[in-house]
Amino acid sequence: MPDKSLRVVVIGAGMAGILAGIKLREAGYSNIAIYEKAATVGGTWRENTYPGLTCDVPAHHYTFSFERNPDWSQHLSSGAEIQSYFERTTDRYGLHEVIEFNTEVTEALFVDHLWQLQLSDGRRDSANIVIAATGVLHHINDPKLPGLDCFAGRHFHSARWDHSEPLEGQRIAVIGMGSTGVQIIANLARRGIEVSHFVRNPQWIMPVENGNYTEAERAAFRADPEALAQAMDFEGYSASVERYTEALTDPESEGSWFMSQACRENLTASIKDPKLREQLTPDHEPMCKRLIFSPDYYQAIQKDCAQLVREEIVCAEAKGIRTSDGQLHECDVIVFATGFRPDRFVRPMNVAGLDCVDLEDLWSQKPVAYLSVAMPGMPNFFMLNGPNGPVGNFSLIDIAELQWDYIAQLMDLVRDGRCLAVYPSAQATQEFDQARVEAAKKTIWYTGGCQSWYLDAEGVPASWPWNYSRFVEAMKEPDMRHFVMLKG
Ligand code: NAP
Repeated sequence: MPDKSLRVVVIGAGMAGILAGIKLREAGYSNIAIYEKAATVGGTWRENTYPGLTCDVPAHHYTFSFERNPDWSQHLSSGAEIQSYFERTTDRYGLHEVIEFNTEVTEALFVDHLWQLQLSDGRRDSANIVIAATGVLHHINDPKLPGLDCFAGRHFHSARWDHSEPLEGQRIAVIGMGSTGVQIIANLARRGIEVSHFVRNPQWIMPVENGNYTEAERAAFRADPEALAQAMDFEGYSASVERYTEALTDPESEGSWFMSQACRENLTASIKDPKLREQLTPDHEPMCKRLIFSPDYYQAIQKDCAQLVREEIVCAEAKGIRTSDGQLHECDVIVFATGFRPDRFVRPMNVAGLDCVDLEDLWSQKPVAYLSVAMPGMPNFFMLNGPNGPVGNFSLIDIAELQWDYIAQLMDLVRDGRCLAVYPSAQATQEFDQARVEAAKKTIWYTGGCQSWYLDAEGVPASWPWNYSRFVEAMKEPDMRHFVMLKG
């Protein structure tokens, strides 16, 4: 008889934690808890509230496959709309019953086939299985700008947006030209707000349109799931993801050339002033950094209220930012759109597995995982969107769902009594990672001549380096030759 009383603890109630909670209940697990360190669900969509926040994955594809949303208002959804989708989904599946908010898991120790968990409020719990759904980009990169303490205005990171005062009438300095900085500048300049964009290295931008769904379209989607499926064009979308991953992983491919041309033409066609165009021309290949999609950044930066600053930042002073040419750029607000530390994952949680294998030792050089979902010596500890998995311009919801199907098969081994715990062997993990690193060095992220958050401490892209269909194939079924089963 399957043992449905197994205690399963999920860490994090962002997109992946919500997915895990729903799937666990569907599978009949009744002894579950989701610990969430914040006061609400949503993860990255709860934390990021900056003006202009938009997901550049098409709305209907950035949606759980089992919880379609006919009501997306735009082809690319706003952050607020995505956050309310996750809140609604949490309510709809009754997940509040199992989520404990304001509760961080600070320690997980594997003792006598159980994970002993320490919670931030002093309580303890123990679990047969732990699912880490702790997200990728949630530890902010907050550069220590000299003189910031003397700055008379407000300053904050893009993921900690201070909404206490209106921005109208203020002069805003935005540091950083990733997807975030680009979206903020486009939004503020469209509203006529005075903005200075401090860009250390310009990035390539792929043009994209973001239309609205009409009320008639949404009504049709509500009335007929078939109409929604047709509009979503699953096959077309999968084919485009496949082409895109081929372009990334084979810089010599036709797809890579096509994407590169589209970015170059976008810059040439959009920026009229040759000096500004030169200042916005990256020194690396398109797609080397995570590709930015924007319908309106180039128009925004050419507005009278916007200025691009390429000079190096020296320090902050009371009235603004001083650059290496001696100029003081006066401003009222400094926004750090400077990205995240992507190598944290479950950290700072203290994790020790079998024979006291410490996560910090296991990851002393870089985060390593078998197929990004599990680690040697960490029995029954599974990760969604863990290290070196697919990241990039496609739906992390889709990736997490595929990973879930894989993890569920490993959990079934425990539930069905075939073992007490399961984990990948050190050898399989090492061989996988060697192959991954070798392939990663052939991708545009490595050969394209840039620094980016994709690169690990050794300068190797920390991502899935093959195409999308290979990932789908890998997630179909665990190869049990690569796993160790503990039987008591
Ligand atoms: P990011 O891509 O890492 O970009 C950070 C920017 O800050 C870069 O331009 C970087 O310059 C600059 N920077 C960092 N430290 C700096 C310093 N000390 N001085 C000056 N400039 C500095 O971060 P992000 O824009 O927040 O995006 C992170 C990721 O979040 C994206 O790649 C994406 O995966 C996700 N995201 C997705 C969406 C979406 O639409 N789906 C939207 C926003 C974010 P250098 O290039 O010179 O290092």
